[in-house]
Amino acid sequence: MTCASKRHTQTGHRVRFRALSETLPPPLPPLPNGTPEFELPDLSAWLGGNCGIRGVQHFESSKPGPHAVITALMHGNEPTGAYALARLLAEQTTPRHGRLSLIFLNLDAYAMFDPAKPMQSRFIDEDLNRLWQPDLIRSAHASVEMRRLREVLPVIETADLLLDLHTMPWPGHPLFLTNAARRNLALARLLAEAQAGTPAPNNRVLDQALLQTPSQGPATRGGPRTPARPPTVVQDNGHHDGMRLIDYGRFSGMRGQARACLLEAGQHWQGSAAEQALLSARLFLAQAGLCALPPATAQARRENAPQPRSAAVTDCVKALTAGFTFIRQFQSGDIVPTAGTVIAFDGADEIRTPYDDCLLVMPNLRPRRGHTAVRLARLSA
Ligand SMILES: [Zn+2]
Repeated sequence: MTCASKRHTQTGHRVRFRALSETLPPPLPPLPNGTPEFELPDLSAWLGGNCGIRGVQHFESSKPGPHAVITALMHGNEPTGAYALARLLAEQTTPRHGRLSLIFLNLDAYAMFDPAKPMQSRFIDEDLNRLWQPDLIRSAHASVEMRRLREVLPVIETADLLLDLHTMPWPGHPLFLTNAARRNLALARLLAEAQAGTPAPNNRVLDQALLQTPSQGPATRGGPRTPARPPTVVQDNGHHDGMRLIDYGRFSGMRGQARACLLEAGQHWQGSAAEQALLSARLFLAQAGLCALPPATAQARRENAPQPRSAAVTDCVKALTAGFTFIRQFQSGDIVPTAGTVIAFDGADEIRTPYDDCLLVMPNLRPRRGHTAVRLARLSA
């Protein structure tokens, strides 16, 4: 129980209230185990690329169609995208229409991945997914990541459709992120709906995402319950500290044609996230008209399957103190039913949900001071 003044703090807004807590917040959870549940893909066969650009595999059909691009390893400690692309390449996936580019982005950071220090290989110098700003790209700015961006830019500049494969530091329900351009929301929605009725790649993560009542405590990791709900479609407007690939002008300008979205497939090193990345890549290629779905995936669809949720981010909650603590181990995709529910403490503040059915997007259970702790999103019809 707490005693809250219901007064907004000066640095807060409608989610932050000064409180005199009568209970200590729970201890911080341990970091997730950094040992991947799947075999890290050996990329040695693909490092050189087949089109003159390191780590880029490009294939052309003889028939007209879009240029579809799938990117993996934007962050070096997120190997599920590399797993998905390596599987597609091993299967000798080629387009029957249009063109296909499969890109392993931050190969240098991936080469440094160490399960004993799994968070240290996200990048070498700086976050590659905060650099996609034309004036910055044209400037003299230099780093390992900027050099890599400039290497792959000619491919990105001709993309008609792009899927950027990522994962999250903490377990959570998969989601597609898009910017506000309606064509990108439509792409993400199409991909999510295409998964409706398909059995979950692995129930351990996806079952928890069906949780509706956070007050009941962490969901149990349970038995099979398929089909699971497809990834949630979340629209957010990016980060103040730099532009994401999906926000690059080609994909975000209102007059543009090219479409892009980003998949957060689950926790970085979980096998279910690797399978989700592969499934989403297959559905992306099928929806783009480049490749047929494998029969097992195509036949698994069922009637009356759970449909994807859509939501728009309304609030970004930053940790203002080093003591930011959630009241329990929330997961991305959890929905808090009642407005005003306390979800976290931050020093002398309580963090409360601003509306009913508030969707939590990628809560960081151990946020550093000044970093984003969670984004709050409102469900849409
Ligand atoms: Zn990432």
